[in-house]
Amino acid sequence: MITLLDENFRQINQYLSDKSFSKIFILVDENTHEYCLPLFLGNLETEISFEILEIEAGEEMKNIQTANQLWEILTEMKADRKALIINLGGGVITDLGGFVASTYKRGIQFINIPTTLLAMCDASIGGKTGIDLMHYKNMVGTFSFPEQIYVYPKFLETLPAKELKSGFAEMLKHGLIADKKHWEDLIQLHEVDALGIEPFIQQSMEIKQEVVKADFHEKNVRKTLNFGHTIGHAIESLCLHSENPILHGEAVALGMICESHLSYLEDLISKEESEVIIENIQKHFCFIDLNNFKEEDIFNLLLNDKKNADAKINFSLLSGIGSCVFDHECSTENIQKSINFYKKLS
Ligand code: NAD
Ligand code: ZN
Repeated sequence: MITLLDENFRQINQYLSDKSFSKIFILVDENTHEYCLPLFLGNLETEISFEILEIEAGEEMKNIQTANQLWEILTEMKADRKALIINLGGGVITDLGGFVASTYKRGIQFINIPTTLLAMCDASIGGKTGIDLMHYKNMVGTFSFPEQIYVYPKFLETLPAKELKSGFAEMLKHGLIADKKHWEDLIQLHEVDALGIEPFIQQSMEIKQEVVKADFHEKNVRKTLNFGHTIGHAIESLCLHSENPILHGEAVALGMICESHLSYLEDLISKEESEVIIENIQKHFCFIDLNNFKEEDIFNLLLNDKKNADAKINFSLLSGIGSCVFDHECSTENIQKSINFYKKLS
């Protein structure tokens, strides 16, 4: 259940007072501790004791070592099955906190309070939790829904512009795969800032929620959310431990450019449509130089992508603006062409 919070967080207080949790753990990273926790605690009215769990910020923390530390702390603090974890942060916190909660003692309850645009419109919704393994993203995880998702767009006021853009990429994706009007609304924005984006957040959340509702276990239509993510994830993984890591949404923007071109090469959309899409994505995202990566490494990652069965590379591709096909097997030649197309855009 997604709730837009009012100024004094009445809905959370109501929720907590209706339930009988033994203890509350609030998971934050160093930034959400500084920028979001004071506002949250300032509005929290609960008799239940709570503990703050803080981790360093960043994707590098979304791993088994951090999960293990958190399981150990929960154990030391005698968290029982009636404990609650509140994930207050971006997608790293909601993915990691959800994973820790859904596995500790075979699952305790958690709620998500996303504080980045990406987590509001995407990561905190949909019941996927997870951590990275080696340089593969989200390799280990669970399908588990938070008890509640509370969204408060004013948290975005302290979010760095680059992070805001990262979430904007996922919003564009929602428009492209499912809602032409949403795409058209978003491309009217000249600048992506917290105030300008606020009116469109709810629509983006609803698109994701609808898709998830139709196919929770990703057997069919949920796969459309992977548009831009097949090539995007491969590049994100390659960058993960490099000197120039890139944000998830930046990788998705790159992936959407390649995969829009691929949609055209596979005869699913016209050249003109692909050009309009690519031009509008390019307007907001910096070019990422792929020349340091070997084609072989990119393909190895594409083949390892957990979405593929039988070593085939399947894509979710656009069949129009606002519609998407999935399980579309592409020729290696066209995949190569789409990556080379991107390389020439600089
Ligand atoms: P993030 O959690 O790392 O947050 C980005 C940065 O913003 C961090 O430095 C964080 O400390 C900081 N921050 C967060 N809120 C802030 C605020 N209000 N003010 C100031 N700083 C703030 O990253 P993200 O972009 O939110 O999420 C990316 C992660 O989400 C990736 O790991 C990705 O795999 C995952 N994801 C998961 C799903 C899913 O369905 N589970 C979907 C999409 C993405
Ligand atoms: Zn994504």
